[in-house]
Amino acid sequence: MSAEKRPLLELNEIVKSYGEEGGLLGLFGGHKRIPALSGVSLTLSEGEIMGLTGESGSGKSVLAHIITGQERADRGKILFKDRIVTSVELETPTIKRNLRYVSEEIFKGLTNEPKYRIDHLIYDLIKRYPPTDGNLGGTAWADQVFALVGLKPEHMTRFPHQLSGGEKQRLAIARALMLRPKLIVADEPVSNLDVASRTALLNLMKQFGRQYGIAYLFISQDPAIVRYFVGEGRCGVMFAGRIIEIISSRNLFEQSNHPYTKLLMKATTAPSPLPAGTLDPAELLHQAEDQSLTKTPQEISLQASEFASHHPNCPFYNWCPEHVERCLQEAPQLLTVSKRPTLNGEPPRLPENIELHKVACFHYTDQ
Ligand code: SF4
Repeated sequence: MSAEKRPLLELNEIVKSYGEEGGLLGLFGGHKRIPALSGVSLTLSEGEIMGLTGESGSGKSVLAHIITGQERADRGKILFKDRIVTSVELETPTIKRNLRYVSEEIFKGLTNEPKYRIDHLIYDLIKRYPPTDGNLGGTAWADQVFALVGLKPEHMTRFPHQLSGGEKQRLAIARALMLRPKLIVADEPVSNLDVASRTALLNLMKQFGRQYGIAYLFISQDPAIVRYFVGEGRCGVMFAGRIIEIISSRNLFEQSNHPYTKLLMKATTAPSPLPAGTLDPAELLHQAEDQSLTKTPQEISLQASEFASHHPNCPFYNWCPEHVERCLQEAPQLLTVSKRPTLNGEPPRLPENIELHKVACFHYTDQ
């Protein structure tokens, strides 16, 4: 993160939990509520591109919902451009113009707007939230962005349900880019596209970011896509509602230190990121499905966080090949990686830009 850039978004100890006593949680032992986010803090600077990765249910999408006002946090503070915001304030025109969300739900939301043609969805938006950073605006500008994302003029006269999944993603990206907002929270924005289209759109988003100073929080389950998009920037890794490592995305695969991140990176070639003989989150999900639960993103998040409730200090304790006695007694803080040997006596992995690198694990930090 550049030192001279001002903070754009600040998240301070965001907490979110779901569930009621005797409901879904009764299946797992009767806890009252399951944490989906357990004290997430994060700062994003103006124009910064940051990535967020982790498995389904790790809390990435819940965090995106809370930042963009789709859901309200139970506790914690959100500052956008130095102003404390709530989900109600996120509805103000200034924030709606400057903080845009691109996600699967947005694509589905477009499909649920059967009465509006695409040209209405584009031109109405640019009329309501005209860019304020220069002369480019109006319908001509909207047409230009529409073409840049790979949509054709004939798409303008169609209705959202007449578009393919990939075309809807292009439309959602066009609607975000044409406003030239301060921040785009993009949650799996190109998942329905083939590799060539995906690369072209990611490059376009990056180009807009550079040209118009747009910051991104780029969320994907696929660390390789995050690394491609974020480049030299930071990437946070989430597990069970917490950010457990922040590292330069360039070093994500080779230089990560947290035991979970290392397993997650290995999982790009292995069927499961967890050691044999341990309780696999996917297995628990299957058990839940067997009990006729619907696998919505919110419920998946509940499942992963349930693991954390077994060991509230370190949520990865159950599966951690490096755990020690202390991990049961204290919660590891997310701190800059240490230069001293690890508790195992091994040298820590020290990337060049060590100041970016933070880990929530006793082995790799001075705590
Ligand atoms: S704090 Fe302990 S249990 Fe948690 S990741 Fe580190 S070694 Fe493993």
